[in-house]
Parts: sequence; structure tokens; C-alpha cells
Amino acid sequence: MARVADVVLEKLKRDVSVRRLAEVKGVVFKKSGDDNLLGHCPFHEDKTPSFVVSEKKNLWHCLGACRAGGSVIDFVMKAEGVTFRHAVELLREGVDLSGAVGPRVATVPKLASPVEDGVDDATALGQVVGYYHRTLKDSPEALEYLASRGLRDDAAISHFQLGFSNRTLGLRLPHANREAGARLRGQLQQLGVLRDTGHEAMRGRLVVPLVDEAGVARGLYGRAIGPLKNASNHLYLPGPHQVAFNSAALAGQSTAILCEAVFDALAFWVAGHRNVTAAYGTEGFTAHHVEALRRHGVRDVLIAFDRDDAGDVGAAAVAQQLGALGFDCYRVLFPRGMDANEYALKVQPASKSLAVALRQAAFMGTGLPRRVADFSSLAAVSPAPAEAPPAESEDGAQGEKRVARATAAKTVTVSASADSAPKALDTHAPSPATSQASTTTLRAGSQATS
Ligand code: ZN
Repeated sequence: MARVADVVLEKLKRDVSVRRLAEVKGVVFKKSGDDNLLGHCPFHEDKTPSFVVSEKKNLWHCLGACRAGGSVIDFVMKAEGVTFRHAVELLREGVDLSGAVGPRVATVPKLASPVEDGVDDATALGQVVGYYHRTLKDSPEALEYLASRGLRDDAAISHFQLGFSNRTLGLRLPHANREAGARLRGQLQQLGVLRDTGHEAMRGRLVVPLVDEAGVARGLYGRAIGPLKNASNHLYLPGPHQVAFNSAALAGQSTAILCEAVFDALAFWVAGHRNVTAAYGTEGFTAHHVEALRRHGVRDVLIAFDRDDAGDVGAAAVAQQLGALGFDCYRVLFPRGMDANEYALKVQPASKSLAVALRQAAFMGTGLPRRVADFSSLAAVSPAPAEAPPAESEDGAQGEKRVARATAAKTVTVSASADSAPKALDTHAPSPATSQASTTTLRAGSQATS
């Protein structure tokens, strides 16, 4: 779990000179043979030089009392008395490792703490978010996981400040036996970022900050990127949820997409559908979601819960609740057994397949929708000029039910070219079902997935 990626280790073993590390610890070398350097071992009382370094292999070995050796990482572990992980972080950061040899806590070189002592909870959580975000960028294993879910998207990573906990936060905080360290660790335990044991709650997880509409972190969601012992794949900080995910993006939108989980919402977002929020599971639709939908003037809610029994039950409950409040709800009908993220992965390009699924969503109320839904923003996937497509035509009451679909069902040509400058452009497409033109705005900035 959360092991250091091989590429990172290889890079350190290649780029950091074991000779230089030993020299800053006071070892003076003499040539010995073609390849080797010989000096007094810094780790034991060494009368005759027994510390050998191979510059070619960048390895060290003590032939004397220590009978130990290895790479630059082994050297730092032994010299500083730190764990493997800690040694890796010290080397990655290029921390000054000069000074005495030995495992004395007080002299362990300090990694800069990403969280300041004495800041309020929101600031502290924000600094944790920032640290995890920086860590993600240096964590190939976490980026690979995102790629495997079709979510390795620079814009999304940056916009949502996605992060990764690789268990190094604790190494950087002031030591618990110092006043500042104890205080800071106590605060992070209170927030749930650290467990009572001092371990990071989110370790080994992709971390999605749950921010309010001012951008302040109010919670964290962690998704395991690999098997974890005795832990759920999904984890939130303790306490009630305080925000609806991505609710700021609902401003000015008449339609909102409601997913079952954060990663499903990210799949929509990456595919260009930005007016998306996520419940916290099938039973995790909260008052915050209702409040945000109302405040932003959303009228139509496309429920994109998983297409399974639990998702159907959850969607029906949400539709009933929202229907009573005056919203029209539609069920996005993914193939049986699929969730939004899976569907986006399997049916490519996701921007197009998700748009189709949205437009074919089925009205969930009894009778007819209260109004003609305008799903124009759902076509916001491509910078390519859209031709005026043939509108669907249906008669009678059945047709009325499909009004939403017909008004929004514009064929969008998904262009493979990412070069053409995305521009807002309007297509006026007549719809016989409503005798009104719908305006399809193709929004700028659809994302190239990487
Ligand atoms: Zn030795």
C-alpha cells in the first residue's frame, strides 16, 4: 500500500551520489582499484578504512564491523536513523544531510511542514489539501490509477485540487514530543486527517477535497487506489457532510446532473459536463444538495446513479423528494449494471456517450414533466460546428413525454481535432414536438484527456 513507485526509487538511486552523501558525513576517500573508493566507515569506530563505495554502481558497503551496505536510501536510513519512507522523502526534497551520523531524534533533518501551527481548522485542512495535491503530481501510482478510471485530466486535477496521501504528511509535521507538534497533530486528529494512532486517515487514497462555494475545504473524500486491509474503498472525514460536491458549478444552470459518487461526477466533468454534483452514495443525498439546487434555480435534475438495484432505489427516493419540491427528475439509463464512470470508460468518446445517455434520460414523475426541459447545456462537448440535425418527431402525449429529449437531441459531431479554437456557437434547431427553437451552446474548454 502506498509504496514508493519504482520510477521514483530508480531516479534517486541514479541521481543522488552515494559518494557525496558519505563525504558530507565526513568520509574522506582514497582510490582503491579501478572502480572503488575506500574510506573510514562513518557508522562504526573504524581504525582501518573499511568503507567501500563503488562509484560506477553507486553503492556502498562496510567490510568492517557494520557488514552493511546498499544504495543511497540505505545510507540515509542508517546515517539519519530514519525509516525507508522518510529517507526517500529527505532525498527527494534535497534536504541538507550534513552533520553528525546517528539516530538521535533531535538531530533528524527536518522536512518542511506543509501545515502551519496556530492556523484555524479550515486553513489547516486547506494546507493538507495543498500538500496532498502536490504529492499526487509526484506519485505515478496514483496518476496511473486516475488514468485507469479515465480521469487523468490536468484540468480536473487542478480544478478539484485532487490529491494523494502517500503517508508522508506525518514525517513532515513537527515531532509530537514538541509543543507545536503536539498541538498541530492534535488539531489534525480533531479534523480526522490523522487517526488517534498518528497515522494518516487517507493513506493510500486518492483524495478529493469537498469544498464549499467559496473554495474552502470542508471535508475530504478518499478513494483507495489499491487493496487496503480492513478498510472500505471509500472514506470521508468523520462528521456530517457539509457541502454538495461541485455545487458552485450549478450556478445559472437550469439542469443539474446528480451522480451517486464523486468519481462518477468527475467522469462527467472531464467529458465536458460541468453542471454535475454527486450524492455520497445511494443514500447520501443531503439537505446541502437540495439547498444548492434551489438556490441556483435548477429545475431539472438528471439522476445518474448506478444502474443497479441500489441505484434505482436511491434514484427513486431522490426523485420523490425533489418532485415534491417542484423539480422534474429524469433517470439516466446506463446499461444495466453500469455506473457513469464505467460507461464513460467503455463507450468512447465519453463526451459523446455521456451526452447521449443524458439526452435519453427518462422522466421519473407521474404524468408529464412540469415544463419543457432545456437540456441545451448537455451538448457542451465539442468545439466542432454542429449541423442542424433532424429533430425527433413524435405525436401526441407520448411525444410530450419526450419533449425534453427532442429539444435537446442535437447530433453533436465530436471532432478528433483539438486544435480548432473552441468557441461558443449557437445552433438553432427546430423541434416539431414543441415548435420552438432550442439554442445549443457549445461551451468552450472541453477537456482533452491525457
Ligand atoms: Zn562500518
